Formats: sequence, C-alpha cells, structure tokens
Amino acid sequence: MKYALVTGGSRGIGRAICLRLAAIGYPIIINYASNKDAAVETKKLVEEKGVQAELLQFDVASSTEVENALESWKNSHPEDYIAVLVNNAGIRQDNVMVFMEDSQWSSVLDISLNGFFYVTRKLLKDMLSKRFGRIVNIVSLSGLKGLPGQTNYSAAKAAVIGATKALAQEVATRKITVNAVAPGFIATDMTQDLNEAELKKTIPVGRFGTPEEVAAAVGFLASDQASYITGDVISINGGLYT
Ligand code: NAP
Repeated sequence: MKYALVTGGSRGIGRAICLRLAAIGYPIIINYASNKDAAVETKKLVEEKGVQAELLQFDVASSTEVENALESWKNSHPEDYIAVLVNNAGIRQDNVMVFMEDSQWSSVLDISLNGFFYVTRKLLKDMLSKRFGRIVNIVSLSGLKGLPGQTNYSAAKAAVIGATKALAQEVATRKITVNAVAPGFIATDMTQDLNEAELKKTIPVGRFGTPEEVAAAVGFLASDQASYITGDVISINGGLYT
C-alpha cells in the first residue's frame, strides 16, 4: 500500500492536509513533535472519513529520531511504502536580526531546512525504487519576498525552495515530483499572535486564508493529475505577493 506522511500533522495546516490526502484515498501517517492530544484528534478526524491513520512521533530536526522512527515504521510495514511526503513541520521565532539569538536562528533552520533534508533523504530510496513519489514542501511568502523580523524564517523557507527546484531535477525521470506551496497569512496557532485586523487590510482578498485552502493545493500536487508539475512553487496568499 502507498501511504502519505505529513510532518507536523497534528495541528493547523498539517491537520487540514492529512484530511485532504485522506479524502483522495491515502492512508495517513501523522507526525507530531509533542502535542499528542492534537495528533490523536487528527487521527480521529481521518478515521471518521473511513481512512486508516497512524501516529508517528519524532522531532524532524533530529537526524537520529527521523532515522529511527522511519526505520521502525518500515520494519512494521514490509509490504508498504511512503509514496507521498508533505514536509509541513515548522516554527516561527521572530526577532529583528540585531537582537536575534543563536537559538532563534538555529531552531528555525533546524526544523524547516534540516527537517526537510532528514525526512526526504530517508524516504527517497523507496520512491526511487518504486518509481513513483510526490513530495510537497510547505514554505512561505516569507521565503519568496522576505519579511522583516523573520530573517531566520525567510532564510529557511528560501533554502527549501532552492532544494525543491534542485531535487525536482534529480528525480524527475523516476516519476517523483517535488514542489513547494507558499502560504501567506493563514489562520492557525502560528499566526494567533498577529494583528489580523491590521494585516488583512494589506491582503487584496481582505482576509487571512484557511488551512483547507492550503490543503486543497497540496492535494492536487499529490494527485496523479499533477504528474507534469515539478520544481514549482504555488503561492496561496490572497493576492498579497506574486
Ligand atoms: P502550527 O499550527 O503552529 O503547527 C505546527 C506543526 O508543526 C504542529 O503540528 C507541530 O507539532 C509541528 N512541529 C513543530 N516543530 C516540529 C518538530 N521539530 N518536529 C515535528 N513536528 C513539529 O503551524 P501552521 O500554521 O499549521 O504551519 C504549518 C507550516 O506552514 C509550517 O511549515 C509553517 O512555516 C508554514 N506556514 C504557515 C503560515 C501561516 O500563516 N500559518 C504561513 C506560511 C507558511 P506539535 O503539535 O506536536 O507541536
């Protein structure tokens, strides 16, 4: 069986992606870092759609945890492989650069950029040998445009965009597509502390987006219909920036 793994699938955009991929028929592996209750809730919501779901806790920023968790999943599923990978786990640690601490810089890079590398490298072998895979990286408007107060986050997301374009070319002949989705402001825990009333005045559509609006694009990129789209970045930002 072909599975879909969503890193950071416990909440927000990741949860909506789990539900979208379940709707197109993939059994779902829900990764999370520490919020087990939220992950269990996502599992319940996927199962309510009549689709199988499993939890897989690991810190994407830890090479060892990624290796161990995915190896043990593989050992318990000898007939199956992860055909769809959504690298969604991410955090914000905003600060102007002059005051940015080492830990704020490295934690954001470790999770978004190194996390993408550890998880993707591990799953590529099976995708290459099975000659099918879909990789979707959740990046950000911040990685395209740059946003003040987010040099760490903009750098991490821009780096993943570069890696998306390079990897897409490496694996294209094996029917593996690699794309990125770049949301603008989406209403989740991550944006709870932002001044939505002020910020939405800057967005042509006049509101924050929903996790489901991001998940719809991910679902399309994961589908068979998207087989000729690779190395691309799709913006979902209400017209804020193109
Ligand atoms: P969120 O609601 O804060 O959820 C973050 C998710 O990432 C949670 O499931 C969390 O797991 C997981 N996570 C965090 N660190 C992790 C780690 N080290 N290992 C494994 N999982 C980890 O965030 P969101 O808004 O849905 O954001 C999802 C993605 O979209 C991120 O990559 C973010 O950068 C990107 N994005 C968001 C927006 C926005 O406006 N919301 C805009 C552009 C891009 P736990 O539940 O266990 O903590």
